[in-house]
Amino acid sequence: MSQAQAAKPEAAPAEEKQTNCPACSKPIKRLKKYYRNGKNYCSKKCWLKSAKGGQENKEAK
Ligand SMILES: [Zn+2]
Repeated sequence: MSQAQAAKPEAAPAEEKQTNCPACSKPIKRLKKYYRNGKNYCSKKCWLKSAKGGQENKEAK
């Protein structure tokens, strides 16, 4: 039973509204919001971090 709960989390607040930075998982403040490539980051630094980390697997350069 506990496995079903882990696989299907009923309480998923950050599904539609993205309020957390995908890079550092911190809540993004409106004033510091940095929108890039359809995602919100808390700062440009985090965007660069996410962009680099996300493409590391795809682009092997
Ligand atoms: Zn961040």
